[in-house]
Amino acid sequence: MTYRNILDKIRLAFPQPVSDTIHDSYFVHSMMRALDQVDDLKTHLPFLGNIVKADFQAAKQTKIADSMSTVEEVTSELVGYLQGMTIFGHPRTQQNVVAPTTIPSLIGVLLASLHNPNLAWDEFSRLVALAEVEVIGMTSQLIGYIPEQASGVFTFGGTGTTLYGVKMGLEKACPGAIKKGIPDDAVVFVSDAGHYCAANITGWLGIGTDNLITIPTTTENEIDLEILEQELRKALIDGKKIAAIIATLGTTDAFGLDNLTQIVTMREKLVDEFELDYHPHIHADAVIGWAWSVFNDYDFENNTLGFRPRTVRALAGACRRIQHLHLADSVGIDFHKTGFTPYISSLVLVKDKTDIERLKRSREQMPYLYHFGQYRPGMFTLETSRSGTGPLAALANLRLFGEEGMRAILGHIVEMTQLLREHLEGHEGTTVLNRGNFGTVTLFRAYPIGVDTFEIKRQEFEDVTYKDSLLAHNSYNHEIFKYVNSEAMEGRGVFISTTDCYRHTSYGEPIVALKSFILSPFVDEEDVKSVVDKVLEAREQIS
Ligand SMILES: *Cc1c(COP(=O)(O)O)cnc(C)c1O
Repeated sequence: MTYRNILDKIRLAFPQPVSDTIHDSYFVHSMMRALDQVDDLKTHLPFLGNIVKADFQAAKQTKIADSMSTVEEVTSELVGYLQGMTIFGHPRTQQNVVAPTTIPSLIGVLLASLHNPNLAWDEFSRLVALAEVEVIGMTSQLIGYIPEQASGVFTFGGTGTTLYGVKMGLEKACPGAIKKGIPDDAVVFVSDAGHYCAANITGWLGIGTDNLITIPTTTENEIDLEILEQELRKALIDGKKIAAIIATLGTTDAFGLDNLTQIVTMREKLVDEFELDYHPHIHADAVIGWAWSVFNDYDFENNTLGFRPRTVRALAGACRRIQHLHLADSVGIDFHKTGFTPYISSLVLVKDKTDIERLKRSREQMPYLYHFGQYRPGMFTLETSRSGTGPLAALANLRLFGEEGMRAILGHIVEMTQLLREHLEGHEGTTVLNRGNFGTVTLFRAYPIGVDTFEIKRQEFEDVTYKDSLLAHNSYNHEIFKYVNSEAMEGRGVFISTTDCYRHTSYGEPIVALKSFILSPFVDEEDVKSVVDKVLEAREQIS
């Protein structure tokens, strides 16, 4: 076959550059075929097809084929890779902070992939760049930033948003670091319930993980303000530069919310006292918690959406912290978590746009780009090419839901979480651990029949003489977890997850917990009830 024959086949595998309705049907049909095959993998279980063990050794031996395949063959092969995938929207999965994705957000991803805008520069992305700015505008105002002063950029994940926050802070604390490198006296603060990406970031930025100061949290999983102040003072007395204080608003495991107001007040006080010539940057890692800002102006008294009283209390409890997000110098937002878009859709917002301009490179460093146009984030972003998928997916959902829809979906999953807790608290054998945290994640523990659960929790967490009991009950909860999930595998009950270390006891041992993370709008009352039923059943089975 000459290359020309092959080229004909290749051309058919691309969407046509000039309108061709017959080929359009072929394109749509190809996608439908893929979707049909995925649909065939659905059963009553909350995952696609079967869970098959992957052979990673063999995978390394894979070689490229000698000749071409077809769209149809490749489609079927690709669908095969979805075998065993959890259906995150399924009401019988409450495993982790992975969102089910809406149809408009999928269309956003498809459109951006189809025409491949590059957000480095509006010359390469045209109005898709505008979509990014509209999302920045909408979310800025949602959290209470002033849009004219604020700025932001989509980046490679929640981790990327914190990276931007710390990088800007570093440049403020140590001006010129981007050029001269990092002095060895820069430090970053985060709570021990904050995300481990802080370690990644200090490591990769060259600040060094040794210079990441981890502050203990209170029993509500909030940064301990007293210890934070002590440690900030100590750092300043030692002549350190505070590159950033990372406040976590919505910790991953427990939905702890740091007290931003107090942290900001503390910063101002220390700036005065130590006569600092910079304001230590405060970055709010709100990649999970940002979404609650749709309730900032909800009338909880009249509660027109009709949430149960317990839900109203939980929503208001979260808002009492989330409403202050605008006090942070920068904020991280993951649409791919509580915004129901596909990965990756993460936005870092900056209160004062001059902060992000500190990261700008000079024109001479990029001779082949950015000669004209109005929008050139590529002059300061870490990435060079930047996909349009994240912004279009985010825009799609913000447009789809509006404030009302966001309130309804979040309110519902919070309501289901509260119901779960109500059920868990109604039984003597189970106890909720993160009772003071009002998100959609519940950490709980089960105790064997006959154990006094009212006393045991406090004793095990505070009294070292209960260490053996704690450890035995850690294993016990692992057993419960195994039982509940093996039942779920058989189509009975719900998949939950577990954490090896909810917190440490006062004497330093990890507390194992069972975990329910509700993020699907399809979860309903019977699903949360079945979690509790299965845990109780497990107690009967395990002695
Ligand atoms: C998930 C998460 C991150 C990391 O975000 P990615 O989008 O996975 O990179 C950071 N912080 C918190 C609090 C998170 O929950």
